[in-house]
Amino acid sequence: MEKVQKRYIRYLGGARLLDEMIPIEGLSKTEIVDTVGRFYIKNSKQITKERTKIYQELLKVTPRSIKIDKISNRWGSCNSKKEITYHYLISTLPMELIDYIVVHELCHIHHMNHDRSFWRKVGSIMPDYKERMKMLEKAK
Ligand SMILES: [Zn+2]
Repeated sequence: MEKVQKRYIRYLGGARLLDEMIPIEGLSKTEIVDTVGRFYIKNSKQITKERTKIYQELLKVTPRSIKIDKISNRWGSCNSKKEITYHYLISTLPMELIDYIVVHELCHIHHMNHDRSFWRKVGSIMPDYKERMKMLEKAK
């Protein structure tokens, strides 16, 4: 009997069967890697955009743009032009951690550093942000 090796990918904090998430039939190994990469870029973009819609209302800020980056070693960044960039693998994380990262970057539109008023802003709509930060440390 042929042994079928099940392949999994990480998505929203859980292990999911690759074949159920992405059509990979007939693809070579390199094509699968490319397809999985595109899957993460697409979904990371969609999820961060959706979560931004929710939190930008609460925080009364509007980012100029939201981008997905394949190179950066950070989960998110925000520059003084209000351009927010997220790592393409952000959709591997559980939603509560994605939300923390989104809120963190949106708060940088108000405060470009990590001073007290920055954290007060984060805490104003996410009182448990410290627990989420610890979870994010472990998720690396
Ligand atoms: Zn920051």
